[in-house]
Amino acid sequence: MDCTKCSTKSCRKTESCKSQKFDNSQLVMQYKSFENQQIINAAAKLVDNGRAGTLSRLQEIIEFAKSLDYKKIGLAYCYGMEKDAILISQIIKESGFKIIPVSCATGGLKQSEVNNESEIDKVSCNPLGQSEQINIENVDLTITMGLCLGHDMIFQKNIKSYSTTLLVKDRVYNHNPIEEIRKINKIQYERN
Ligand code: SF4
Repeated sequence: MDCTKCSTKSCRKTESCKSQKFDNSQLVMQYKSFENQQIINAAAKLVDNGRAGTLSRLQEIIEFAKSLDYKKIGLAYCYGMEKDAILISQIIKESGFKIIPVSCATGGLKQSEVNNESEIDKVSCNPLGQSEQINIENVDLTITMGLCLGHDMIFQKNIKSYSTTLLVKDRVYNHNPIEEIRKINKIQYERN
């Protein structure tokens, strides 16, 4: 399946296509579960009735968490972004939640302890420890912020709560990877 090369885009007109291998009727049943309905409804409230584009991602997270009556939110952040994490924690706290910010350096492991091929004794990111700590805190939702590529995968695989990304790390494009794509697009437009 390659949706980008599809000329009909029939799915956008609520017609499933022959390329799909999944069974929609089974998925519709899954969507009917109480848990999925809660999430789907809370997500819809953020964008339905002309609201799309009116809330920032952080505002959306706060409103989403309020509508699900969440109480405790984990913040898994990169220690290099701690100043931003402090501010975000404060905003979330002032919105009525208990916030559990956990740094990627939690546990204080050395890089040589985590990576078999490293002899570096400086502190390592510890995505297993970061997710484990947040699991122990039993939060309702986890926000991730600036985790390194790869570390984010280990974190996401091990975190037990729902998690959403507020900020993705991109060291070249000021943590906004789409800037690179837009730059490439612009170059192509100019060449055309
Ligand atoms: S109709 Fe099928 S192939 Fe085309 S965009 Fe939709 S899902 Fe992808």
